[in-house]
Amino acid sequence: MDKEKIYVSGPSITQKEIDYVDDAVRHAWYGNANIFHEKFEKAFANYVGTKYAIALPSCTSAIHLSVMALGIGEGDEAVVPETTWIASSAPLKYVGAVPRFADVDARSWCIDPASAERQITERTKAIITVDLYGNVPDMDAIDSLAEKYHLPIIEDAAEAMGAEYHGRKAGSLGKVGVFSFHGSKTMTTGEGGMLVTNDSDIYERALFLRDHGRKPGDVMFMNREVAYKYKMSSMQAALGLAQLERIEELVARKRQIFRWYEKELQGLDVTLNDEAENTRNTYWMVSIILDGKYGKTGEELRQFLAKDNIDTRPFFHPLSSIPAYRELGEARGMAEQNPVSYAIADYAINLPSGLDMTEEKVERVCNQIREFLS
Ligand SMILES: *Cc1c(COP(=O)(O)O)cnc(C)c1O
Repeated sequence: MDKEKIYVSGPSITQKEIDYVDDAVRHAWYGNANIFHEKFEKAFANYVGTKYAIALPSCTSAIHLSVMALGIGEGDEAVVPETTWIASSAPLKYVGAVPRFADVDARSWCIDPASAERQITERTKAIITVDLYGNVPDMDAIDSLAEKYHLPIIEDAAEAMGAEYHGRKAGSLGKVGVFSFHGSKTMTTGEGGMLVTNDSDIYERALFLRDHGRKPGDVMFMNREVAYKYKMSSMQAALGLAQLERIEELVARKRQIFRWYEKELQGLDVTLNDEAENTRNTYWMVSIILDGKYGKTGEELRQFLAKDNIDTRPFFHPLSSIPAYRELGEARGMAEQNPVSYAIADYAINLPSGLDMTEEKVERVCNQIREFLS
C-alpha cells in the first residue's frame, strides 16, 4: 500500500471560516451585499498598515491594476527579479511593457539591488520587488535606488503575508503592494488578491479601472473609459476575513514548520531559507539548495521523494530561461548577467510546506532527503 501522500501546500480551514462563508451566502445580498468586502478590506489595511486596500479576484489582477494605475504602458520597462512566479511580470505584457530581469541575492533569494540598478534604462518606469517564499529583500537599498532614479516600487507580497522588515509589514514597503489568496498561499480565499497603498491617486485609479471605468457612485451606465471587471465575491471576502482573524496562528504554524525542517536537516550540506536581522520571514515555502558536492540535482531529489508519495515543487526557474520569455530580446544573455538565479535553480526545490504539515510528516520528508544524499 502507498504511504499517505504529503502535499506541497494547502490551507488551514476551521469552523470559523465555514461559519463566515455560511453567513455571507445567507445574508450578504440586497442591502448587505458589500458588508464582508468592507470588513475584510478595512481589517486587511489595518493589519498591513496601509491607508487603503482593495479586494480583487487574484494577485495577477492586482499587479495589472498597479501597473496601469502607475501609468505604465506601451514601450515602457520595469525591473523584475529573475526568481519568481510569472505573475510578477506577466501584467507588463497586458499593457505593452516589457520586463528587465535582475538577479537575486544569494542569501535572501530576493532582488539584488546592484543587479537591479544595472537593468535600469531611460525607459524604466518601476521596480517590481518580490517577497520570495515569505522573505523580504534589502528594502533600504531598493528604496535608495527608487529615490535615485525616481521610480515607484510595486511590492509583490503574494507569498509573504505577515512578513516584516524593520517592524513594517510586507506589502506596505513600496508605493503599492499586492497579495495573493490562491489556495496554496498562507491565507486563502480560494482564488483572490488584494491591492494595498497609501497613495490616494493610485487607490482611486485602481477602483475606477477595476469597475469598468466608473467611479464609485458615478452616473449610471455612463462609463468614462473602457476598463476591467476585477471583483471578489462576498463569500470569498468572508473566507478572507476569517483567515485574516487567524493570521498570527497561520504565520506561527509556517514558522514552526520551518524550525522542524531546520532541526531535522542539521548536519547536511543544504541551504535553507534565510532570515536576516530585523526581518520576519513567514516561510511560505520551505526550500533547500543542495550543495554541489553531492553531485545531485533538485530534479533528482524531487523524483526520489515522489516515489515515497511526497509532493514538491521546483525552485522558480529564472524567468529569462522559460519558454514564455526565452525569445524576448531582454532575456538574451541573462545567464551570464544573473549567475545567482541560474546557479540556484538546478539544485533547489520547495519542500512540503502546507498548513497541514506535522512534525512527523517533516521527519518523514527529511529521512528521505538523508537517504537520497547518503
Ligand atoms: C501566487 C503568486 C502570484 C499570483 O497570484 P494569483 O492570485 O494566482 O494571481 C503573484 N506573484 C507571486 C510571487 C506569487 O507567488
